[in-house]
Amino acid sequence: MGGNYISQTLLWTLIGLCYPYLGSAQEAPISDAVKKEIPGIVKIYQELHANPELSFQEYRTAAFLAKELRALKFEVREKIGRTGVVGVLKNGDGPKVLVRTDMDALPVLENTGLAFASKMVAKNEKGQDTGVMHACGHDVHMTAWLGIARIFSANRTNWKGTLILIAQPAEEIGLGAKAMLEDGLYKDFPKPDFALALHCDAFRPTGTIGVCEGVACANVDSVDIVVKGRGGHGASPHNAVDPIVLAARIILDLQTLVSREINPLDPAVVTVGSIQGGTKHNIIPAEVRLQITVRSMKDSVRKHLLEGIARIARTAAEGARAPAPTVLVRQEEFTPMLSNNVPLTQRLRKVWESKLGREFVSAREPVMGGEDFSRYAQGGVPVCMFFLGTVPKEKWAKQQGMSLPSLHSEFFYPAMPTTVETGVEAMRLAVLELMQP
Ligand SMILES: [Zn+2]
Ligand SMILES: [Zn+2]
Repeated sequence: MGGNYISQTLLWTLIGLCYPYLGSAQEAPISDAVKKEIPGIVKIYQELHANPELSFQEYRTAAFLAKELRALKFEVREKIGRTGVVGVLKNGDGPKVLVRTDMDALPVLENTGLAFASKMVAKNEKGQDTGVMHACGHDVHMTAWLGIARIFSANRTNWKGTLILIAQPAEEIGLGAKAMLEDGLYKDFPKPDFALALHCDAFRPTGTIGVCEGVACANVDSVDIVVKGRGGHGASPHNAVDPIVLAARIILDLQTLVSREINPLDPAVVTVGSIQGGTKHNIIPAEVRLQITVRSMKDSVRKHLLEGIARIARTAAEGARAPAPTVLVRQEEFTPMLSNNVPLTQRLRKVWESKLGREFVSAREPVMGGEDFSRYAQGGVPVCMFFLGTVPKEKWAKQQGMSLPSLHSEFFYPAMPTTVETGVEAMRLAVLELMQP
């Protein structure tokens, strides 16, 4: 280790002496065009972070982004897919490139201790007050997106074509991309030749990016089950049918779906995320409600899981002489898996490796999370989402892995300004590559 360290140090000293303009290899080189924008957009990042809005409630955020794009001479339309914004900047003949940001935050009470932490409160879908926080980094995505808008609007000599910037609502509930597409995104505006996006990664050091060729995120389904019984006195279970015991049985039986029925080489997840039933110690309730998230990366696996859940619930009820349960697959909440177009991703990866440096670009394993950016592949549009490291360097060195706060955590925050700097630079390189004159 020691020898290795010394020889590496020697090597970098030599490189530093020979090529002083390469700068330190501690950080990827950031262009002047990006550096110039950083102080301004980091301030905007803090504003966005302090003022988060929930899915489909992004009114102030959308109005702000629309105003910014208008000032940069984009043609702007608002309220596309409820609160979405579309900005188009034409610059002669050439490819049409779409860059997407999402805008929504999460019903999470922030606990980062940042000076600009959110103190916002909003009504959740049940009408209850909840803290609101940009815990998924969508504030970083918007900031990088604005950086791209500023840079490409200011300098139009080094690119040609049509830049389409979209700010999408409601990514967190999987409905925003669908809403924008159904509202004419690919009909009333130029249909893109390529669609790009970035997403924060809570387990990657700041200053680096992760690239995933092919499948990057999973199919996401939501299933609701109402387990039915017959209510009664807790002291005379023989006169009732207990849906709590039945729900417990169903939950355990569901664990065999992935472990015993799906090919171990096919990724799949069935998680019961919510169970609700009963009011008091001595009352057997009439029903119990389960909420289940189902993840897959193949249509055949998806079909098997959804049918299996219904089968297991039904047969368990039958075995307990209970009424048939209702099983509802919430079609409207389905998010298809995200598959990054391979030739496009390879092309961009080459650019990133040569311009940012190989040490700052690495492969990223697919995850079972969902991302409705997948929907922009509609009609054969090649899509690529890359992943932006956010973990402060000192923190990364100390506690790699599981002890870091994940996305959606009340403790999550990205290192600044390196995270935004790297995000804008990587996106700038990608857009330039696709829009060369
Ligand atoms: Zn999220
Ligand atoms: Zn997100």
